[in-house]
Amino acid sequence: MTTPSPELPADPATAGEPAMRNGEGFLPGADGSAAPAPDDLALPVSGRRVLTRADGQPARVGELPAGTDWVPIGTLDGVPAWAAEVAEAAGSDQPTGRWRSWRSLAAELPEPYATAAGRALAVVTWRRTHRWCGACRAELADVPGETSRRCPGCDLYVPMRLSAAVLTAITRPGPAGGPDELLLVRHAYGPTELWALVAGFVEAGETLEAAVRREVGEEVGLAVDRVAYFGSQPWAMSGPGTLLTGFTATAADPTAEPVVDARELVEARWFPLDALPAELPPAYSISRWLIDATVTAGGR
Ligand SMILES: [Zn+2]
Repeated sequence: MTTPSPELPADPATAGEPAMRNGEGFLPGADGSAAPAPDDLALPVSGRRVLTRADGQPARVGELPAGTDWVPIGTLDGVPAWAAEVAEAAGSDQPTGRWRSWRSLAAELPEPYATAAGRALAVVTWRRTHRWCGACRAELADVPGETSRRCPGCDLYVPMRLSAAVLTAITRPGPAGGPDELLLVRHAYGPTELWALVAGFVEAGETLEAAVRREVGEEVGLAVDRVAYFGSQPWAMSGPGTLLTGFTATAADPTAEPVVDARELVEARWFPLDALPAELPPAYSISRWLIDATVTAGGR
């Protein structure tokens, strides 16, 4: 597995593949049958931030206050990992260290730890926002061994759900003798300075491929052919429980120009693959892996 880092671009051949083999990397789980051990990995969460040691390295359970309400989230290289919701306010009994955004963690720490931190954020947020039964208002109870809850009143089963989103790298042939061109867009909100890919959430009742065609049509008014799956990445920036899936596609009409949906985008433009803008998505994102892979493929 390639570990994407700010220094080294991901190997496009494996960029979308999961980090794990034979128990290495981060494996999500919910096994809370054994109590947390002092050397287990600790991922305290407050709001949208995760606590690390002051030196930026992952914290251990033994470094946090006794009595912390730990929730199992899986294993990292075989070591159990635990999350907990804690208050960020200063105080003598508060944990010391650095509260970090997932963006900061993903940019600086190895990919498996960033994935674990993303799951910690997702699980803690889900537990805070799914406390009561939506059908009968009773307080939900944890289902042991699962990231899910059940209603003691009406038996409603409440699993933690994922939102799937699609990102698409759309290319078209360049002018005669020139390299292919890639469509990049700038969004009206979020990191507005970046040139990014067309993206959006999948609707219920829709395949991933249909979501690609719909989002491309809605956001830039283009039809696409040869929609092909590239890879996926758990993503903790757009809210809890998001799975990004990446696709490549070609413009159905190579002469068509994008027409932007001004609610979501401010600009859309074709760029030759040898002259992409500098303001691209970060090296730890599947958006960037897709763009880099497209450049590599177009350069053959
Ligand atoms: Zn109920």
